[in-house]
Amino acid sequence: MSEIKVQNFIDGKFVGTEKYLDSFDPSTGEVWAKIPDSGQTDVDTAVKVAKSAFEKWASTPVAERSKIMMKIADLLESRLDEFAELESRDQGKPVWLAKSVDIPRAVYNLRFFATCALHDLNRSSHMQAVDAFNYTMKMPVGVAGLISPWNLPLYLLTFKLAPAMITGNTVVAKPSEMTSVTAWKLAEVFNHAGLPAGVVNFVFGTGPNAGDAIVKHPDVPVVSFTGGTVTAVKLRIAAAPYSKKLSLELGGKNPGIIFDDADLEKCIPTTIRSSFMNQGEICLCTSRLYVQRGIYQTFLDRFVAEAKKLVVGDPKSPDTFTGALISKEHLAKVKGYVTIARQEGATILCGEEPLNLPERNKTGYFMRPTVISDVGDSSRLVTEEIFGPVVCVLPFDTVQEVIERANAVKYGLAATVWSTNVNTLHTVSQKLHAGTVWANCWMVRDLNMPFGGMKESGTGRESAKDSIEFFTEEKTICVKLN
Ligand code: NAD
Repeated sequence: MSEIKVQNFIDGKFVGTEKYLDSFDPSTGEVWAKIPDSGQTDVDTAVKVAKSAFEKWASTPVAERSKIMMKIADLLESRLDEFAELESRDQGKPVWLAKSVDIPRAVYNLRFFATCALHDLNRSSHMQAVDAFNYTMKMPVGVAGLISPWNLPLYLLTFKLAPAMITGNTVVAKPSEMTSVTAWKLAEVFNHAGLPAGVVNFVFGTGPNAGDAIVKHPDVPVVSFTGGTVTAVKLRIAAAPYSKKLSLELGGKNPGIIFDDADLEKCIPTTIRSSFMNQGEICLCTSRLYVQRGIYQTFLDRFVAEAKKLVVGDPKSPDTFTGALISKEHLAKVKGYVTIARQEGATILCGEEPLNLPERNKTGYFMRPTVISDVGDSSRLVTEEIFGPVVCVLPFDTVQEVIERANAVKYGLAATVWSTNVNTLHTVSQKLHAGTVWANCWMVRDLNMPFGGMKESGTGRESAKDSIEFFTEEKTICVKLN
């Protein structure tokens, strides 16, 4: 495949910029695409266009907006293979994973919001004593700035795009500079589906240039961001003078708690997935496993044996479970934690065996699923988000103890609990500081239920209904009847 040249998508047209960035194929380390290195001028143009498209889109009946979004979903679905291959090439994940999770979930996001907003109702009340009738009306906020990360590129972008569009906002979006290709292709789908020009605009580039310009733009009153906790601090500061609506979905350090009575036949395969799926590069991945003392050694032996079986290699191969990590720098960062483990005298149970890669992948950013034990609770391995295929396994004795240890980090995104005792499941789940607790499962997601982090994992508790509220302003109209 020859090198792809991504262009910004503004006012329904593809437009170039002065400077371009290299985008690497993580599975080979080769440059495979050029990405616009957009800055203030490109963002200003996109915001201006989005602002002038706003009034018409906001007054387009929701049923009409819904029809266009359903068409986008259908067209995207009809190009599943193509999008899955591009997503895999861009991010390093196995093609089968992009095909079974990322792209279908992007289609689902579009369909879900396109239909759920059709059933959204306004509120009303009649104040008998004064004979006054109150009712509410929801209005879109304006130009929405959407900033998304690289780990689930199209899935997370559409999780913002869909509620923003269906509620009548226009959009300036900036996907991660490391994974911009599928968003650029989605713009093609927008045009085929008949989305009016200017409703969605993509400005590609880096966070400090394009992202910051969106966040600080006075004509962007609402910003939805998914990414790292450190970046979010910068966004909070940048947005502060403008009183913007801000949604932040951030990092995690998710505990998995496995009790003596857990059904290991179910727990081990799911925990392998929750630890290592997408190379461990999912904000919801489990990265510290607390295992009750009675089954600690049995669990560890079986878990390590399964981790060793996972095939690391060419994302195109259907046998590959672990593809390439996103970048050379990120691989070095993740491996840095293994070095810390060694320096601290922890035991590296697997992950350092030589890789057996096809020739073309030898320059890619691969590492084996890595399991580490004998780590202290205060180690950086246990407190910091690693965001790679590295999991620490720690023994525990009592319920109270494990709850305290699981809660002793600054993050609070997700957790898993494994037990066959329903009391244990509820008691522990209720006491964990985590936005989502999965009991005897992982990543089972109902978009009607609130999603998001506690503590430094984010601000939003976004069910589909909450997302619709986030992208709208609700006003009350009070009419005195007599
Ligand atoms: P990141 O914070 O580096 O970047 C996220 C996005 O923000 C990118 O588009 C980036 O270009 C942009 N950005 C960077 N600096 C910016 C700035 N100063 N102003 C405006 N935009 C800026 O995160 P990442 O490395 O792309 O993604 C990984 C992180 O995202 C992890 O911490 C992961 O846990 C988190 N994440 C969270 C969720 C969730 O739902 N909570 C989902 C996926 C990923």
